[in-house]
Amino acid sequence: MASYRFRCRDIGMDCQYEVSSKKAEDLIPEIVDHAKKDHGIENIDDDLKQKINGAIKRRIF
Ligand SMILES: [Zn+2]
Repeated sequence: MASYRFRCRDIGMDCQYEVSSKKAEDLIPEIVDHAKKDHGIENIDDDLKQKINGAIKRRIF
C-alpha cells in the first residue's frame, strides 16, 4: 500500500502542517485550503505548484 505525504516545511515554510492521502490528487485541495487559511496565499502560481508537487513524497508500507 502506498500513500502520499506533504509537509509544509518541505517547501520552506516555518509550519508544522502536514497531510497525507492514498492519492496524490487528493492532497492538492487540502494544501490549497491550508495555504489560504494559514498563509494567506490566495493564488497558487505555477512556481508554487511545482514546489508543492516536488515536495509530495510517496511512501510504501
Ligand atoms: Zn503551512
